[in-house]
Amino acid sequence: MILPYTDSILSFIIKFDVAIGMALFCFIKEQLLNLRDICFPMCCCSCGEMVDSEGLCPKCWKRIKWVSDPRCRICGVPFELDISSLCPQCISKPPHFDQAISVFEYDDFSKTMILKFKHGDATYMGKLLAVWMHRVAAGLTADLIIPVPIHFLKRLKRRYNQTELLAMELERLCGVPQEPRILEKEKQTSPQEGLTRSTRLRNIKGSFGVNPGYARLLVGKKVILVDDVLTTGATVNECARILKKHGAEKVMVLTAARVNLDRVHLSTGPLLQPE
Ligand SMILES: [Zn+2]
Ligand SMILES: [Zn+2]
Repeated sequence: MILPYTDSILSFIIKFDVAIGMALFCFIKEQLLNLRDICFPMCCCSCGEMVDSEGLCPKCWKRIKWVSDPRCRICGVPFELDISSLCPQCISKPPHFDQAISVFEYDDFSKTMILKFKHGDATYMGKLLAVWMHRVAAGLTADLIIPVPIHFLKRLKRRYNQTELLAMELERLCGVPQEPRILEKEKQTSPQEGLTRSTRLRNIKGSFGVNPGYARLLVGKKVILVDDVLTTGATVNECARILKKHGAEKVMVLTAARVNLDRVHLSTGPLLQPE
């Protein structure tokens, strides 16, 4: 025999249990987060100072130089004055990529952050850098994210490729799939440090290739090519050339930092790092 109001009582009990369960879950989650903050306090990515939220401390926020307009419509180099949409380099010899966007300037300050991420096992920084990159790339539409590859011997030595970490985080943030197996660094090149633009171009030419097994994924696709630092653009330009040769329709370059070559001469130490 079914008692009157049985359904209502059952429904009330279920709703009550769910509410209690949710409250308990939130409580446990909060306690675990507190415990994590006590055991692993969040630190500023640059100076290591303790901070309340992931990122930079107020002192470092003031020191970072964000790349902003006016800048070249193609290569993204910042202009002093808003008098042209293209820089002389892009007017005389446009690059193979269609657009390049960077978050901040690579200078003596940001160099510490980038080198920690690139060579210092600070892989956790990929998350923060990708969030910033995702924000500056808000206007872009793409089918595929491709990280700039490193030679497998270099990868073996470094144990990770920082651009793949950025691409993975970007995939998570924007939902565009990333594929690190398409582009390959086939030849080991000598470090780009200290080389002129033309020597860099010669040094890097022919060192990248497309994996034949994945080449079909490129045809007619809009690609975001991800790198940590844009120096002269020689590396991303060569990658873009190869990607377009294999059918990519558009290649947009997204980097965390970019070297403003005009300011390199004002720096006290060497700015350019091996790509
Ligand atoms: Zn700091
Ligand atoms: Zn330009």
